[in-house]
Amino acid sequence: MSQTADLPSWIPSAGYGVSRVPCAGRFAAVVLPRPVGELLLKAVPARGVLTDVAADVLVWLVPPGSLTTDAVPGASLLGPGDAVHVPPADWRRWEPVRWVVPPRGDCLAEPGVLSSALRRLSERVCVCCWAFPERPAVITGAAADGQSVSLTVCQLHADEVTAALKYAAEVARVLA
Ligand SMILES: [Zn+2]
Repeated sequence: MSQTADLPSWIPSAGYGVSRVPCAGRFAAVVLPRPVGELLLKAVPARGVLTDVAADVLVWLVPPGSLTTDAVPGASLLGPGDAVHVPPADWRRWEPVRWVVPPRGDCLAEPGVLSSALRRLSERVCVCCWAFPERPAVITGAAADGQSVSLTVCQLHADEVTAALKYAAEVARVLA
């Protein structure tokens, strides 16, 4: 069965099922918790976004090597050596791995746009529960490596994160 002509050859044909596609040379994958991923859908023009229902994630594809982990706070970045489960282009409704934005063209999102949207989001989302707090708190402290960090949290998680940062500071002191 032939694929829609303008789609990359790594997208499996209809009826083939899900294919485990190595990232190497094709794309890097930005894997996001569902709530964050869904918010990004409104901010980032996409040419194909995947969801894995079991893992509860959304997956953006970007050009290989175009982003570093630092550029995508809150996301996992899959690169050479990793692989992504890719369904046929017409899996869009109820399948456990499916497209939430139908694939078109090279299926790759603009990495700069994705990165800056993610940075903006991470400043407003609680690092623990990924909720958008009405009154976010920003907690500053030292991470385990001694670097200073600022974390956005909801009121519910403020104490937890404060305690975690204190502990990290303690660890840093002991190791120093
Ligand atoms: Zn929270």
